[in-house]
Amino acid sequence: MKDTLQSLGYSLYEESLQEANGSQFAIARGEGTRHLIVQGQAASAFQGEAKDDLIICPLSVENAKVLGQYFDYIIPIARPEHKKFSMGFGDRLGLATPGHIQAIRNYDVFPVFAQQSIRELSLSKRNYEEVIAAASFAVFQTQYKEGFGGDGDHLKTEEEIQYALDCGMTMITLDCSEHIQNEVDIADYQNLDADIKRHYEERYLAKALPIIGEVTEEELQLFVLVFHKAVEHAISISKFLKSQDKPVNLEVSIDETPGETSPLQHYIIAQELIDAEVEVSSMAPHFSGAFEKGVDYQGDVEKFTQELRVHQEIAEYFGYRLSLHSGSDKFTVFPIWGEITKMASHVKVAGTNWLEALRVVAEVEPELFRGALAYAMEHRGEAEQYYHISSKVSDIVPLDQRSNEELPMYLEEDAARQTLHITYGLLLAEEFFRAPFFACLEAHENLYSEFLAAHMGKHLEGLFERLQ
Ligand code: ZN
Repeated sequence: MKDTLQSLGYSLYEESLQEANGSQFAIARGEGTRHLIVQGQAASAFQGEAKDDLIICPLSVENAKVLGQYFDYIIPIARPEHKKFSMGFGDRLGLATPGHIQAIRNYDVFPVFAQQSIRELSLSKRNYEEVIAAASFAVFQTQYKEGFGGDGDHLKTEEEIQYALDCGMTMITLDCSEHIQNEVDIADYQNLDADIKRHYEERYLAKALPIIGEVTEEELQLFVLVFHKAVEHAISISKFLKSQDKPVNLEVSIDETPGETSPLQHYIIAQELIDAEVEVSSMAPHFSGAFEKGVDYQGDVEKFTQELRVHQEIAEYFGYRLSLHSGSDKFTVFPIWGEITKMASHVKVAGTNWLEALRVVAEVEPELFRGALAYAMEHRGEAEQYYHISSKVSDIVPLDQRSNEELPMYLEEDAARQTLHITYGLLLAEEFFRAPFFACLEAHENLYSEFLAAHMGKHLEGLFERLQ
């Protein structure tokens, strides 16, 4: 196959070459992109172009599905019980997974390579099937056979979850935010349904509860007002998931709230879910401090540490794992997180693969990078309606003050990182940027993987640092 490919002008990824049912399969690069190559009987099952005795196929959703019939390790799975630590990588570009695989080779991690929210899908103009197919082809290319997951991230409704499951996602992150009442008046407690009030009062009042102790009447009333609908929603979604009869990990996320989650809130939510037999794989409370996009943790590390200990105690008591969202670049808290959760937890890092891609552009296509940063600075306001960031455009060193060699420095600076981070959807929609950007990443895939492996490696190093 190698020689035939060469004569056709394609270069084979040697590590991808494998056999099934007497046919040969591989990934090769040609005409500026990667293709699936099939030789032998199986070839007729794939959509592609016949050349010589090979069929050269696009890395399409359809071809990924057929390939999965020959190699089941390329299909996402739910987290195996013995894999205690999982990490959500979220390859937004469809080109980052080989680098992510390189990063985790030496660590005991269950990787969730496919991970996107509905908003990220629309910003990156992809659908879940494409997200999964990109991950599948990457694990096939590198013969990563340890298993990986797919996370329908921050899904809010049954319809969204159904869609994610139909596409093959194996983890659902349920975002309860629309059912959390952030502004409540304690006087409204009286108007609540009598059964709801009785249920909570009998279960929690005048009791010495583990970890959180006694709950006052006012604390409980406030809790019920703020959270009872979210709890009901999570229970109803859990029933729906069970009716689907597919192995899937449920993460309950209550992090998208204005304030941090108190131990009392975490405990009662957990107790309610466990009482209703919800199988919680992980829970994402809102931790203290700021977890802004693209930069390190901002906040009181001591306070974070104390609170994390209590949240961990609650999670252990109920038998699930904690989950950290917006985990990219939170180097200050990684060793603490690793130590306290004993690396039985989940961490989501998503946007960094975009910033590392821009590092490639800064290195090899300075003019494209200059255009991207100028655009991002100009359009940052539009993106700020979705993301809260505290750095300022005025903190960014003007582009005309930096030589081409100095451009990668922007990716070490908070203001530029955040500005580029949150404008990814806008940039990817721009004609001047989109095609040249993807062509640049395709042409420098090894450099991209190298940057990703280094950057994600730093994350893993921090997380595993204090683990014995
Ligand atoms: Zn979140």
